[in-house]
Amino acid sequence: MKREFAVIGLGRFGGSICMELSREGFNVLAIDMEEDKVNEFRNIASHAVIADTTDEQVLKELGIRNIEHVIVAIGENIQASILTTIMLKELGIKKITVKAQNDYHEKVLNKIGADHVVHPERDMGKRLAHKIISNNILDYLELSDEHSIVEVQAGKKMAGRSLIALDIRAAYGCNVVAIKQGNEINVSPSPDAELGADDILIVIGADRDIGRFERSLA
Ligand code: ATP
Ligand code: ATP
Ligand code: CA
Repeated sequence: MKREFAVIGLGRFGGSICMELSREGFNVLAIDMEEDKVNEFRNIASHAVIADTTDEQVLKELGIRNIEHVIVAIGENIQASILTTIMLKELGIKKITVKAQNDYHEKVLNKIGADHVVHPERDMGKRLAHKIISNNILDYLELSDEHSIVEVQAGKKMAGRSLIALDIRAAYGCNVVAIKQGNEINVSPSPDAELGADDILIVIGADRDIGRFERSLA
């Protein structure tokens, strides 16, 4: 059986989630309070309905209780996002993912039991900033407030040298946890093997240390 999803709020973010899930063949209940938005998704989602999800009765009548995973992508109206999330929680929805508009909103969502809070503008901004710092930085993933993982292309600076020679741990306090070569990923990289320019190092560490490492590659 196909898993069921509902997306509340069909702006750019919610809209693209709905589009992608539908394209992957999943059943999606698309909800927005604006008729125009809903009309855009009539031929895309399996169901598209006009509804204000801050109205408890309306929410119940949607039959949302039977849906496994609900994504709340209401942006600007933080109050509506919080209220909708609380009511979904009360209805016993197993998995609730919510888009946060700011850090305060994120905190409230975590407190009221959202299972997964996403912050796409902030996170994409951070990732892009790290890519801009150095041409070698391919991706950036935040693990906690203080720790991250980056993907770094070995490039000319590291090519022909080994992890021992580069001494990344001693010099920057970061650890290389894996090395990617094409589709292959080696999770216990040999410390004395020579790196190739196309190798991708997966580096974990404190943000401050990763920052120093990134700047050394700039
Ligand atoms: P984007 O993803 O485009 O950045 P945004 O974060 O700026 O969107 P909004 O445009 O404020 O967010 O909201 C996204 C959608 O949520 C809008 O289409 C809006 O009509 C819808 N929406 C807002 N409040 C409710 C509500 N109470 N019930 C249902 N839909 C709602
Ligand atoms: P967000 O990243 O929060 O989703 P957004 O995509 O909704 O933002 P806006 O809030 O419309 O975009 O614009 C982002 C910022 O760009 C605002 O702070 C605005 O003041 C600024 N801005 C818009 N137009 C101009 C302009 N012509 N020159 C300088 N700054 C501008
Ligand atoms: Ca926005």
